[in-house]
Amino acid sequence: MSRADRAKVLLPMPVGSGYDYRIPADMAVSPGDFVRVPLGPRQMTGVVWGAADGAVPDDRLKAMIARHDAPPLAKAHRRFIDWIAAYAVAAPGSVLRMSVPVPEALDPPAPETGYRLVAPAAGPAAAPAPPPAPPGVRITPQRQRVLDALADAGTVAAERLRTAAGVSSAVLTGMAKAGLVEAAPVAVRADWPAPDPDRAGVALSADQAAAARALAGAVGAGYATLVLEGVSGSGKTEVYFEAIAEALRQGRQSIVLLPEIALSAQWLARFEQRFGAAPAPWHSDLTRAQRRQIWRAAATGTARVVVGARSALMLPMPELGLIVVDEEHDQSFKQEDGVVYHARDMAVVRATLEEVPVVLASATPALETVANVERGRYARLVLPERHGRAAMPAVELLDLREEGPPRGRWLAGRMVHTIAETLAAGEQALLYLNRRGYAPLTLCRGCGLRLECPQCAAWLVEHRLAGRLECHHCGHTRTLPRECPECGAEDSFVPCGPGVERLAEEVAGLLPSARVLVATSDTIRGPAAAAALVGDVRDGAVDLLIGTQILAKGHHFPRLTLVGVVDADLGLAGGDLRAAERTWQMLNQVAGRAGRAERPGRVILQSWQPEHPVLQAIAAGDRDGFIAEEKAGRERCGMPPYGRLAAIIVSGRRAEAVQQAAQALGRYAPVQDGLAVLGPTPAPLALLRGYFRHRLLVKAARTVNLQDYIRRWLSRTPQPGGVRIKVDIDPYSFS
Ligand code: ADP
Ligand code: ZN
Repeated sequence: MSRADRAKVLLPMPVGSGYDYRIPADMAVSPGDFVRVPLGPRQMTGVVWGAADGAVPDDRLKAMIARHDAPPLAKAHRRFIDWIAAYAVAAPGSVLRMSVPVPEALDPPAPETGYRLVAPAAGPAAAPAPPPAPPGVRITPQRQRVLDALADAGTVAAERLRTAAGVSSAVLTGMAKAGLVEAAPVAVRADWPAPDPDRAGVALSADQAAAARALAGAVGAGYATLVLEGVSGSGKTEVYFEAIAEALRQGRQSIVLLPEIALSAQWLARFEQRFGAAPAPWHSDLTRAQRRQIWRAAATGTARVVVGARSALMLPMPELGLIVVDEEHDQSFKQEDGVVYHARDMAVVRATLEEVPVVLASATPALETVANVERGRYARLVLPERHGRAAMPAVELLDLREEGPPRGRWLAGRMVHTIAETLAAGEQALLYLNRRGYAPLTLCRGCGLRLECPQCAAWLVEHRLAGRLECHHCGHTRTLPRECPECGAEDSFVPCGPGVERLAEEVAGLLPSARVLVATSDTIRGPAAAAALVGDVRDGAVDLLIGTQILAKGHHFPRLTLVGVVDADLGLAGGDLRAAERTWQMLNQVAGRAGRAERPGRVILQSWQPEHPVLQAIAAGDRDGFIAEEKAGRERCGMPPYGRLAAIIVSGRRAEAVQQAAQALGRYAPVQDGLAVLGPTPAPLALLRGYFRHRLLVKAARTVNLQDYIRRWLSRTPQPGGVRIKVDIDPYSFS
């Protein structure tokens, strides 16, 4: 029973699914419109979501305040938000907040100060030449540059003018005072430089061209998921650039999702080279003002290509024509905080709702993706080989049981020797260890005490360069105590195990003349640092890179021919469903850094268990064998993608309350065929940021509607205060 004088408005906040508001007589609104409404003593911006529920009596109904002058949120996007909320068992308002993270971007931007030439006295000014300088005013070279920049240009924003003319703001104010120019307001630049699809790209090989044609042909032809698979260096990026070019030609916007966008300097440079303009970036390192500007550019359609981390998927794009998810297997696409979702999966959902194609690119597609190809839901395009003369690197296993280094060292003799050889040949090497800091564990020699985080069930990691210990879960830091707090022994603490800093120390002792660069998220902060790193490696200012996973992705270093993996077993331990798959993907990716140009590459994997199927498959380059075995294992125990899984995390400040709540939750679980509830048990990270955590797992057949079950279950369970319940559909983190 809908009434024309009221409507439901969804607000970007984590409760409820929208409130009814009265539409003032002088206001016309339609679904999707952004409106300002009162909420208690405050005002908030929300989106008209549809017909009112009609439950609120007229006299309690509040009126909308104003409608924003902004493009409405498209129907497909509103359905997308409802879809995610239902899937993730989350409040629709929480999902809306991801799409409208900077509500003030809806207000028209305040004008900036600009300058223009003083208007000619009269007459149709035919010549763009500036008017003659008033008598007695000196035209310095700086002033002349400003006049040149303004000739024919109308009003130019002060900041842009300063950059264009290379002058300080004092020059501009001086010129205004002297009557050479005058100040005037200028609208904030709403345009975004348009990428040009018709600049020449690289000449594609026959295989690449065939894949590019298939992708480009899908643009404008409705929904499709296209898996672009090819080893690293096979030209996947060049190929999907052609799909973006086609979207641009058709006047459609594109979203590209990349892991670690802040560090993808090389990708950005290549995009600019291909299209002559930078894409609009979207990631967490932007300032609020930048977010405002870019959100508006995306939502009004002026930004044609947005590239970003997973959150870029949520941006409103009125003319969306293409989504690309590069490195689609990457686990950073899974968001664990707030609304728990996987951006690759949601990209497919958005593509379906918007009826556009989505490209999933990877050298090692996720098992979920492989399964969807086999079910015939996704199309698969393969680039069979590396571009040019580059061959895949040869992979050698190094058995630490047989040729391991002496105690207290981490690099086997053969590894050190091969690095030395590589550097002597004028080539570069990369040592990979996914552990920041100096040592992952510090313990007391006297009593065995391990230094732990007071807020997390985790060891403190020594960061020797920074002179402190740090918790990698919550960021808690402290200095190394001189005395053991347990037994009182002095200077008794010893570091156990290696981090990248400790490797650098070892290398300095063994290969003193090597120029070493340690690259981790501690040392490479943001795009500028990443660009500097790439430059240093390119210019040969670095011989040996030592780094974590930030070095595994995307980079192309032509002279890098050796990759040494210090601990290939690192990801295999623990009860993680995807441990083997992830290790396979990571090792493939790191190995892919070696030998990307003419010189052949070589990879050495140090391992305590070289007979492990993952390592054997890597060494043999046996993709199909690995996937077949991994699939069989998952199928046998009904695990994703052959069964459904959800985690329910119960957390709170008081250990006892959390445990009781988790047990109660377990007791209230409805009994249902084809579904089992496991637990509760303390989560592996039983304490995180001061919150105690218990976990239940729901395991179900693919035919079961897991979300329905969980909603029913949660709604019949009494919820005690002081305890939070988080639902994680298809969990990736088992900590
Ligand atoms: P991938 O994304 O599969 O790792 P890229 O697209 O990054 O591969 O290509 C690897 C390198 O080879 C890049 O430097 C790229 O510019 C270059 N390349 C790929 N295909 C061609 C081609 N057809 N012509 C020239 N260079 C190419
Ligand atoms: Zn901590």
